[in-house]
Amino acid sequence: MKFLDEYRDPTASAALLETLRREATKPWTIMEICGGQTHSFLQHGLDAMLPAPIELVHGPGCPVCVTPLEQIDRAVAIASRPEVIFTSFGDMLRVPGSERDLFGVRARGGDVRVVYSPLDALAIAEAHPKKEVVFFAIGFETTAPANAMAVLQAHERGVKNFSMLVSQVRVPPAIAAILSSPSNRVQAFLAAGHVCTVMGYREYEPLAEEFRAPIVVTGFEPVDLLRGLLAAVRQLAQGRHEVENAYPRLVSRGGNRPAQEAIARAFTECDRAWRGIGVIPRSGWRLRDELAAFNAEQRFDVGRIAPKESALCIAGDVLRGIRKPPECPAFGKQCTPQTPLGAPMVSAEGACAAYYRYRLTPSLLLSRDNPEEEVGG
Ligand code: SF4
Repeated sequence: MKFLDEYRDPTASAALLETLRREATKPWTIMEICGGQTHSFLQHGLDAMLPAPIELVHGPGCPVCVTPLEQIDRAVAIASRPEVIFTSFGDMLRVPGSERDLFGVRARGGDVRVVYSPLDALAIAEAHPKKEVVFFAIGFETTAPANAMAVLQAHERGVKNFSMLVSQVRVPPAIAAILSSPSNRVQAFLAAGHVCTVMGYREYEPLAEEFRAPIVVTGFEPVDLLRGLLAAVRQLAQGRHEVENAYPRLVSRGGNRPAQEAIARAFTECDRAWRGIGVIPRSGWRLRDELAAFNAEQRFDVGRIAPKESALCIAGDVLRGIRKPPECPAFGKQCTPQTPLGAPMVSAEGACAAYYRYRLTPSLLLSRDNPEEEVGG
C-alpha cells in the first residue's frame, strides 16, 4: 500500500474485521495509548464494529489532558504578568485551571497568543526585545524535538527574553505505571505511531518482556488500527509478548536519530506529575542545567501554587482506562466542549471530546441544557 486512501479502504477494513471476529475468541482488554487513535477509532465507528471479546480502553496519550493542573495555574500566573507575551498551542487556552483558563487571562488584558510552533514563539521574542516571551512546552516525544530546537536556537543566538514553561512527558514510564497498578486490566497496548517515528520502539522491548504484555506500534488510519489490533490479538492468543511494528511505513526500531540528539542536547529525564494520575518516576523531560536560563519556572516567581481540581471530573480514571467518558456523571451535562470541567473535554485528542463528538446519545443531547436536573450526584 502506498497512498492514504488505501489505509481508509472499507473493503480492507471489512476483511480485517472479519479476521478479528474469527480469531478473537477470548476476552482481551487492549489499550490504545494515543488520543489521536482514540478519535480515529470513534470517528470511523471501528470501536462499535469490533467483535465482543475485544474491549478497547483509552490511554493517557493526550498531551493537553495530562499537563498537570499546577502547571496550568503556573501558566495562568505567568501569562497574567504585564511584561509577558505568553505563547501556546491553541488547545491549551481552554484547559481549565483552578480559577481560570488562559482565555480568561486574555479577556483580562493579558497578551496570550496562539502559535503553531515553538520557533514562532522564538520569532516573537526576537521581534519584541522589551517583552518576556514564554512558550508553554507541553507534549510527548513528538513535540520534544521542535521544543528542543527552539531553546537550542535561542541559546545559540543569545536571545535573552525567551523562556519555556516545560511540561514534557514520555510514554514508556506511563505504560509501566499502568501495568504496575493493582487495578490494571490492560493486557496489550497499541503504541502511538508518531511517538515511535521519533523514538523508535527499542524502549518498549524491556516493558513487553517484564510485564508480559504485547505492544504493537500502530498508525492512525482504519486499516492501521485494525492491523494493530489483529497483531495484538494474535500475540495474546498465542501467549506471546513482543514488540511488533505494524506501522513500518514510518517507524523503524531506532527512530529518528537527529531528533533524538536534539532532545538529548536540550533535555534530561525527570519525575513528572500527570494530571489526574500523579507523579510517574522518570516520565518527563526538563531543561538541562546549562539551559536553566530558559526555564520560565525559574525566571518568574509566581509564589505558591495550590491547585483545586473539579470534584466532578474523573479524568484520572479516564486517562488510565479504568472508566470511559460516558461513565462520568458530568459528561455532556455540566461538562461539554463549551463548558469543560476537565482537559479531556477540551483537547483535540481528549477521550471525552471524542465521545462527545462521535457518541453523544440523543438523551444526553436533550438533557445537557438542564444539567442540575440530570446529575444525581
Ligand atoms: S466528561 Fe468532563 S468532567 Fe467528566 S472526566 Fe471528562 S473532562 Fe472530566
